[in-house]
Amino acid sequence: MDFEFSAEQQQFIKNVQAFLAEEAKKPYAREVMNPEREADSMLADSQERREFNKQLAANGYLGMSWPDEFGGQAKEGIYEYLVNEELASVGAPLIGKGVGCVGKTLIRHGSEKHKAEFLPQILNADIEFCLGYSEPGAGSDLASLKLKAEEVDGGWKLNGQKIYNTSAHFADWYWLAARTNSDGRKHEGISLFLIPMNSEGITINEIKTMGDHRTNEVFFDDVFVPQDALVGELHKGWVYICEALDYERFTLYTVGPIQKKFDVFVDMIKNETRNGKALKDDPLVRKTVAQLATDVETAVMLQRRVICAAVKGGVPTVEAAQCKLYSTQLGQRLANAALDILGPAGMLHEGVEHAPCDGKWEHSYRATALDTIGGGTSEVQKNIIARRGLGLPLQI
Ligand SMILES: Cc1cc2nc3c(=O)[nH]c(=O)nc-3n(C[C@H](O)[C@H](O)[C@H](O)COP(=O)(O)OP(=O)(O)OC[C@H]3O[C@@H](n4cnc5c(N)ncnc54)[C@H](O)[C@@H]3O)c2cc1C
Repeated sequence: MDFEFSAEQQQFIKNVQAFLAEEAKKPYAREVMNPEREADSMLADSQERREFNKQLAANGYLGMSWPDEFGGQAKEGIYEYLVNEELASVGAPLIGKGVGCVGKTLIRHGSEKHKAEFLPQILNADIEFCLGYSEPGAGSDLASLKLKAEEVDGGWKLNGQKIYNTSAHFADWYWLAARTNSDGRKHEGISLFLIPMNSEGITINEIKTMGDHRTNEVFFDDVFVPQDALVGELHKGWVYICEALDYERFTLYTVGPIQKKFDVFVDMIKNETRNGKALKDDPLVRKTVAQLATDVETAVMLQRRVICAAVKGGVPTVEAAQCKLYSTQLGQRLANAALDILGPAGMLHEGVEHAPCDGKWEHSYRATALDTIGGGTSEVQKNIIARRGLGLPLQI
């Protein structure tokens, strides 16, 4: 089996790396390329990061897989994955929500007005989106969402609450799932809306997470939006959400950051001492490193299987679940191993005197806790593998 990328793809990777090397010389580089932020280094949540996205746009890295008629380049989805792999490796914001989830859904199902208004702005990196799905009581079981959109004279009135809506405090537009019908099957009464984040009646409160990642709870009190805020057909939101997840399979799962982190881990083992003895000489430490090296390689191969299945035209639901489950838990094992090896000093925070690796692993330990929850918990991934991959019965 050939696990290598084609010559054209390898050249493309070199081009992206050359682009990033130029960007790394700019004054904003430290703000834009910051892998230490871990989970939220993928966000365009500052002026500098938005400016960087403009450079991505100017260099043709946004909307590559969109059809020509919408300003895209009709390239295979794998090119978007390759860009994201390089971006993730340096801790720069990823392409995804606008180009993938919103853009591709609008191309397939949006009105002419929505296409004309949003697609050029997405391609130019002019706007940022917040995905408004989760609610208290509707996370893993998303179809139970309750935020209500009621049809009123000239539009819609929205009431209810969202939770863990990560980009709400800086995004321009909400990509919002709301209940438009409470009768019948719960999946069939959900609709999608595009709503300006500054709409009257929206209140955004910060939720601080243990990994220093900011997310938000958002309240809707009689928020009025015009009729054309509805995306596609009424009550078809669930179908669109599931389709968007399929588009994202290429771009969601990057392994570059875990490979880079493992390199830093190995450097630490080579250079640090504990109780006056070099870590690299400790047989238990060496065993741990060898095991983790094997695990990182396994994560890379699981990720290649996602790509491989998708390139063949399938929807790699099971492969993506295996990859997400394995690589997010591996991220936690890596941080855990570093803290075990470093001993009590490893618990010192960044900026504290004598903190080994300037507190990197202490932060990583907290930050990686979020990875096994966001985008579907580990238990949900296991359910997908059990049911769809192994044909086991639905667990009640
Ligand atoms: C960092 C981060 C960013 C996020 N960003 C966003 C965002 O931008 N937009 C958005 O809409 N949401 C976002 N979320 C929400 C995320 O999608 C949900 O937290 C996630 O789906 C889990 O839902 P929940 O928190 O309601 O937990 P629950 O679904 O209540 O799960 C609680 C526990 O029960 C387990 N469980 C649930 N169902 C089953 C089952 N059937 N079988 C076995 N075990 C089960 C879960 O695995 C978990 O351990 C984000 C979350 C995080 C952590």
